[in-house]
Amino acid sequence: MKVPLLDLKPQLAELRHEILEHVTNVIDSTRYIQGPEVEALEKEISHYCSVPEGVGVSSGTDALLVALMALDLKPGDLVLTTPFSFFATMGIILRVGAKPAFADINPDTFNIDPEHVDTILELDRERKIKAIIPVHLYGQCADMEKITSIARRYNIPIIEDAAQAIGAEVPMISNGTEKWHKAGSMGLAGCFSFFPSKNLGAMGDGGMVISQNSSFAKKMRLMRNHGAHPKYYHAIVGGNFRLDPIQAVVLRLKLKHLEKWHQARRRNAKRYETLFAEADLAQNSSIRLPQAVYKKRAHGDRSRNYHIYNQYVIRAKRRDELRAWLGRKNVATEIYYPLCLHQQECVKEVINIPTLPHAEKAATDTLALPIYPELTLEMQEYVVKSIADFYLQE
Ligand SMILES: *Cc1c(COP(=O)(O)O)cnc(C)c1O
Repeated sequence: MKVPLLDLKPQLAELRHEILEHVTNVIDSTRYIQGPEVEALEKEISHYCSVPEGVGVSSGTDALLVALMALDLKPGDLVLTTPFSFFATMGIILRVGAKPAFADINPDTFNIDPEHVDTILELDRERKIKAIIPVHLYGQCADMEKITSIARRYNIPIIEDAAQAIGAEVPMISNGTEKWHKAGSMGLAGCFSFFPSKNLGAMGDGGMVISQNSSFAKKMRLMRNHGAHPKYYHAIVGGNFRLDPIQAVVLRLKLKHLEKWHQARRRNAKRYETLFAEADLAQNSSIRLPQAVYKKRAHGDRSRNYHIYNQYVIRAKRRDELRAWLGRKNVATEIYYPLCLHQQECVKEVINIPTLPHAEKAATDTLALPIYPELTLEMQEYVVKSIADFYLQE
């Protein structure tokens, strides 16, 4: 059996006809930049996340970049983030002339550890840290209850990297009542990617920044179009970070199916749990399954996106050997990420390289298994059996 890490064909088959029709309409309109489809998508995504503002941009990277540019950081400013993320999270910090600072991750969730965030901020006597970028890795939110309260104490804005987590929710208690918040809606800005492998994927690159703050959103909206206001007059510098209407129509059609896809991914995660337990691997010390830390607080409410499983990432002993073994069995896997951000060559000369043991360990033993919505039970049985066989031959 062949099990791909992601197969977009079933989703395409379902929507192909509709997508062609809507894309054709955009083509026939001859309006190829900005316009009503982009505006409609901005309304729909911001509404989905319960915030007033959405700014469509050219990628998840540019979503982060425009949010950071809008903060007007100065050279020498620091931005605190996680060492365990896709490169874009750090790349944009360097591109605006700031430097990254890192807090280690929580080994259960792979997300930034709030206690360590607090420690780093306390050590930052000169108050050089001007923003915090938590990443909601793999589709589960970072501990935003603690992070927002720490950030408020230090009066530092939060830019959420929600590239992998559109629709994911996190419970927070305020004034004694628990409320669920969508990824991206809690910081000054929340950044999404519509890269094809994300839960909501375009047919090319795309992204969006959402915000509760209308004046900040206004600034980002100007910046995505070279800061022009009015046309050809530039009080501020931006870039070309615009989202294509062709991508916007694709995304609008897919958005209607997003909850169903999130639920299918959660069903697949549950199936893995059952299958790994049956194979005596769930409690086994060879592998560790992903921890959905907010699941209990969903109280069985199936509509709660306590995790959207953009990736299903296990920890595995002898990870690289297991991956090679699975490759030979035609089971595709991936490593997100084999090298931490603070270990990247491009920052060797830029920062004093810290030791971040939990992130460094995660880089050596994490492995993403196929989890996409249309994955079949038979495929998952085959994945689990292949993993069980690997550890049996020890
Ligand atoms: C995908 C991703 C990005 C970048 O998004 P692009 O659309 O590929 O530019 C940024 N951060 C994280 C965590 C991501 O997974």
